[in-house]
Amino acid sequence: MNIMVENIVEALSEHLEQDQISINQTIRELHGKDESYHSISLPDVVVFPRSATDVSNIMKTASRLKVPVVPFGRGTSLEGHVIPYENGITIDFSLMDKILEIRENDLLVKVQPGVTRTQLNKELKKYGLFFSVDPGADATLGGMAATNASGTTTVKYGVMRDQVRDLEVVLADGTIIHTGNLAAKSASGFHLNGLFVGSEGTLGCFTELTLKVYGIPEFTTAARATFPTVKNAVEAVTSILQAGIPIARVELVDESSIRQVNHFSETDYAEKPTLFLEFHGNEAGLTQDVEFTQEIVKDHGCDDIQFETDNTARTKLWDARHNLAYAYIHGNVGKKMMVTDVCVPISELADAVIFARQELDAIGLTGGLTGHVGDGNFHALLMIDMNNPEEVLKAQNYNEKIVLYALERKGTCTGEHGVGVGKQKYQAAEHGEALRIMEKIKVALDPLNILNPNKIVKLESDGG
Ligand SMILES: Cc1cc2nc3c(=O)[nH]c(=O)nc-3n(C[C@H](O)[C@H](O)[C@H](O)COP(=O)(O)OP(=O)(O)OC[C@H]3O[C@@H](n4cnc5c(N)ncnc54)[C@H](O)[C@@H]3O)c2cc1C
Repeated sequence: MNIMVENIVEALSEHLEQDQISINQTIRELHGKDESYHSISLPDVVVFPRSATDVSNIMKTASRLKVPVVPFGRGTSLEGHVIPYENGITIDFSLMDKILEIRENDLLVKVQPGVTRTQLNKELKKYGLFFSVDPGADATLGGMAATNASGTTTVKYGVMRDQVRDLEVVLADGTIIHTGNLAAKSASGFHLNGLFVGSEGTLGCFTELTLKVYGIPEFTTAARATFPTVKNAVEAVTSILQAGIPIARVELVDESSIRQVNHFSETDYAEKPTLFLEFHGNEAGLTQDVEFTQEIVKDHGCDDIQFETDNTARTKLWDARHNLAYAYIHGNVGKKMMVTDVCVPISELADAVIFARQELDAIGLTGGLTGHVGDGNFHALLMIDMNNPEEVLKAQNYNEKIVLYALERKGTCTGEHGVGVGKQKYQAAEHGEALRIMEKIKVALDPLNILNPNKIVKLESDGG
């Protein structure tokens, strides 16, 4: 063991039990990667706090020793967010997995950061409530807040940032703060919830989250609509939104992705560009919304629309959609997944998706398109052989083309996955002078640059 690591372990042992500190190779390897194609790098030590006090002591120790710290939820991020390229300490929040309070009347829930979204929804169901944000992986709420995650229901309920009422945050020097309160609105002070959500572990560690929850809707109807082309499908979505139909979910899956879904989920959906839709509401309102939507999709060339009102069939439909990435992974053993993630103004969406499809066909790699099209956010999923440099380069160039296309149209390089290391090179192009402000915020909150260093912003003193 290197002397530096011994020093870290010794200093951490002053505050933590032995079973909360690990230098085991397998544990370090599990914390040296995410679910993407980004290269692996191991932390020196992994710690498992049980409380905010533990986290505060870890941060005080790390500050004193000037050791980098990476917060870790479940490691499902897709842009190298949790990979400790500077080594140091990884804080795994899996032991902080308690649902602390359900305030039914306030429609609020207080949780520790290691609670996963499915764990929370299982508990909330007993109260007739649900938590809306549903990324394709069973992520932790701490990780989801840190990446400003979103999912299939964002078109109706909003992104993670819209759900956070308050965060308990441990800062780089170990200070513990709260960023909000329980009130539905506030005009008091700077919007720290907004700042910390999406900060990817670079500004502080979340140790408690107070989140909005919703009543399970009285009626839910899901539908699957197929179209002759992706353009028809996307234009139908634009018309649905323009008509003011309060759609709860609208997801595009292109024909090659439907093929993967059928194979993995044992479904027999028609292999055509498809919209997966869902409507939430009361029976009368929903009937009208559904009728109106049927008319609109027909106007856009929809060849078939199938409704699923039965709970089991609906769950199967959304499971199939949620498992899409895993369908690609299982169908392409030995390859790594690269997922593009741009978001564009809705008026630019149809052309952007067509551009992405044409470019994907041109490079000839295995992959497909899918998207939270109601938000203007879509992904190309590419399966790449990391041992084939030509393939890797093709995929990287493709990703860059898609990003530049989105930025030229005043969109963003990442709609939901976040920056990590993968999207860092586009931050200057996207934010211009505003990036300097982000750097100043980083320096003010983390002057030693120990919190997930060189993610989102790369400070000049580090050679950036
Ligand atoms: C198959 C698949 C589908 C996906 N689909 C979606 C999708 O639809 N929408 C979407 O938004 N994302 C999606 N993702 C990406 C990923 O699931 C999200 O980014 C998720 O929010 C990460 O959560 P996590 O718990 O795994 O966090 P991690 O990956 O462990 O960490 C993510 C970031 O959060 C920081 N962090 C973690 N915990 C804390 C904490 N307590 N305090 C401060 N910082 C912390 C980490 O340092 C890191 O920067 C998908 C990923 C996969 C593999």
